[in-house]
Amino acid sequence: MKIILLGPPGSGKGTVAKKMQIELGIPVISTGVILREAIDGNTELGKKVKSIMSKGELVPDYLIMKIIRERVEQKDCKNGYIFDGFPRNIEQARSLEKLNSEHSEQIDYIFYFEIPFSEIIQRLSSRRVCKKCSTNYNLLFKPPREKDICDLCGGDLYQREDDKAETVKNRLKVYEKQTLPLKNFYKEKEVLITVDANSSKNAFLEILKKLEGKKR
Ligand code: AMP
Repeated sequence: MKIILLGPPGSGKGTVAKKMQIELGIPVISTGVILREAIDGNTELGKKVKSIMSKGELVPDYLIMKIIRERVEQKDCKNGYIFDGFPRNIEQARSLEKLNSEHSEQIDYIFYFEIPFSEIIQRLSSRRVCKKCSTNYNLLFKPPREKDICDLCGGDLYQREDDKAETVKNRLKVYEKQTLPLKNFYKEKEVLITVDANSSKNAFLEILKKLEGKKR
């Protein structure tokens, strides 16, 4: 099963994707996580994208498509995958269609995470992420049991550089201009399902309901 989670930054895609990975037994492909790992590892890719990401801009499509092509060909993707944070603009969506048609495949579900912008700003400013396993926490709604320590793996929690106030504003602008048009793009293809993302727990349950009986 191949799934896209679409929605603004901070709408809970990453949190829901991790739960879906466990439930469905297919991997999450998060371009944001892959890029942050490249920055942490100081790789060639990391050096290229660091300043772009710290400004909240989008990384060039050719770099993203290279990541995606390599990742979907790995063994663990043979039964499908969950895209989190990809595609991010119409160009990437078209490239994905091309890639899928090369393999005679298609995306089965696209879930759009609906949430007001006012809620997002609050969520992002209180978000903390595990350095080791990328699990998300929220200091207001889902704090870790021990301050700055991941409940799951004991890794250190940190605030993402791009979750700081100035960058968040730009990320939301970029989202509106470049990513939001994907909602209509996929709506016209009649594959988009909107979920209420005010609560990640409910969004996850709503998605499971839609997928009921379709697990592989
Ligand atoms: P995310 O973790 O999905 O919020 O992504 C964090 C940042 O990584 C974004 O603000 C972009 O700079 C970059 N990024 C992640 N995914 C993509 C993508 N599909 N296309 C372009 N840039 C991306």
